[in-house]
Amino acid sequence: MVFFLSAQEHKLLLNRVLPLAREVGVTPELRGWNWWKEPLKPYYSERISMFSVCGRFCPTARDVYLMYVERKQGKLTHEILLGAMAHNLLEYLFGYCRQGKFDISFHEWWKGELEKRGKLENVDVLRSCLEPLWELVLSQARAAYLETKTAHPYADEPHALAVALPFLVEHKLDGRLLGLSGTLSVDCYDYLRHIIFDVKVGGPPRDFYRLYPTGYALVFESLYEVPVDVGCSIHVSFRNGRVVVSRDIFFINDDLRNWWVEERDRKLELVAQKKDPGKAKECASSCMFLEVCE
Ligand code: SF4
Repeated sequence: MVFFLSAQEHKLLLNRVLPLAREVGVTPELRGWNWWKEPLKPYYSERISMFSVCGRFCPTARDVYLMYVERKQGKLTHEILLGAMAHNLLEYLFGYCRQGKFDISFHEWWKGELEKRGKLENVDVLRSCLEPLWELVLSQARAAYLETKTAHPYADEPHALAVALPFLVEHKLDGRLLGLSGTLSVDCYDYLRHIIFDVKVGGPPRDFYRLYPTGYALVFESLYEVPVDVGCSIHVSFRNGRVVVSRDIFFINDDLRNWWVEERDRKLELVAQKKDPGKAKECASSCMFLEVCE
């Protein structure tokens, strides 16, 4: 669940995605460590978020213009709030599990989250989604830990935990070499399998979701100079008190890398040159900027 691949997904990773990555490879210019020359070199000094580069929620990218040029703030919609809280939940939970602490309480976390956020609408709906998510992730983390201890009876605690839960959750990255913010957080990096995970919560799955792991892989390569070839976009939704998770595992190929660079250049130009791209013909009712976009 969430960052743990199923048996079928492991097969897909081992028999399709990794062989494809080895066979096809990546053009050297599109590796993040070549950030200092074309096509990865950013042409403007402005820095924007990964969300701005990869998000294609607004057809004209006017959301990026409003945020960075007009300094407008979007409205916190239910979907965005649920997503933010789910990300906090995963970071909190894995933070404790990685220390071998599995007897942590949802109520403690939930109390802290409510205190931090102040008055919220639909509190019961939020809780009815997040509590089952907590239970599912915690039980799977504990099971992975117990299984690892069984398989490696001589492993000490830190070793067993590092193998059972090889996840850097909300890992901090500096994206400035590629024209991004200096304070990025990647949802999760599996350091044993070298997979970048990106989690989306609620709403329908969107075709551009692959751009997020692609961007983080490029940043990772620019910082640590190690190749990152596999991305995984995770879609979490909630149905009648049940958590539904689907994962899209893919090779971060040249096409995705080029697409990411095009998006970055288009949006950096828009911000640097203060170009208003104009209002879209059709706007989704879930757009955060509906009320301020005239
Ligand atoms: S209201 Fe429409 S044009 Fe404005 S940011 Fe949202 S989607 Fe884009």
